[in-house]
Amino acid sequence: MAQNRRSATLMKAVQVPGAGAEFQIVERDIPEPGAGHVRIKVQACGVCHSDALVKDGSWPGLQYPRVPGHEVAGVIDALGSGVSAWSQGQRVGVGWHGGQDNTCPECRRGDFRNCRNQKIAGISYDGGYQEYMVAPVEALVAIPDALNAVDAAPLLCAGITTYNSLRYSGARPGDLVAVLGIGGLGHLGIQFAHKFGYKVAAIGRGSEVASLARRLGASLYIDSNSERPAEALQRQGGAQVILATAPSSKAMSEAIDGLAPNGKLLVIGVTFEPIEVSPVQLISGSRNIQGWASGTPADCEDTLRFAELSGVRPMIETYPLEKAAQAYARMLSGGAEFRVVLTM
Ligand SMILES: [Zn+2]
Ligand SMILES: [Zn+2]
Repeated sequence: MAQNRRSATLMKAVQVPGAGAEFQIVERDIPEPGAGHVRIKVQACGVCHSDALVKDGSWPGLQYPRVPGHEVAGVIDALGSGVSAWSQGQRVGVGWHGGQDNTCPECRRGDFRNCRNQKIAGISYDGGYQEYMVAPVEALVAIPDALNAVDAAPLLCAGITTYNSLRYSGARPGDLVAVLGIGGLGHLGIQFAHKFGYKVAAIGRGSEVASLARRLGASLYIDSNSERPAEALQRQGGAQVILATAPSSKAMSEAIDGLAPNGKLLVIGVTFEPIEVSPVQLISGSRNIQGWASGTPADCEDTLRFAELSGVRPMIETYPLEKAAQAYARMLSGGAEFRVVLTM
């Protein structure tokens, strides 16, 4: 009896004990949700490249130990005081946007995505690499019935970032949109771009991914090993948008000349290297370069609804929570097809 009571209050969590340290599997007390928070029984959590910010310690001021994970899908298990809009048993997720202060200049204008004190799940507080997590209500995303937890999880970071950046990109149905890189972000970007009604050019390396790119919705495949993507795009009249998902500033720099007049390089692949571009390249044809980060929980819900309607789904590899270290290594290797998801 005593044993059972004890195990009922403990859970398994995977934490990073310090910057650069190995993952640890630990037993922790199941957390209690405070006011304005809920406790989520986690069912799935995506492993994102940005989890490296926690693992490597490159996020300024991050406090350890920390449980990473910002692609969380599960079920509300307990409500904190003052929570009325959400109910126990409801299926919810938490993405990159882990909450806002509601008081900064951007929040006062409704631009929660750019909150100056934005909280990030798995960075500002413990995320989804654990059996239960606590999240503020501002971070919650309702998950439609038609989407299972493992499919929903990657849509809350990789999915929303491609969906949201494309839908605000200014590209219109029929426009040529190129997706640079066919990986965790790119394979979703191709699907969303196709379902939005764009003519999609997928840019990858080698001929092996060509048939996959076409299956995902690309009508044109450009092998950057055998031709220059910018020239290939110009033969089609130039791209209205190049969604740059590959974390390669060199590849982004080389693609800029593939833009049509008024075209936009939309940067979502994270790297710290500079993109090289001359003012002349931008001035001729009035071209733009724009970065884009994720979106709000409401944007996440739009992403999930659109995925439900259109059939867009992530391609995933799943690992049990205890194998988080292997799952993370698999993600880092670049060999996964295409998103790695932990299951609880
Ligand atoms: Zn992410
Ligand atoms: Zn704010």
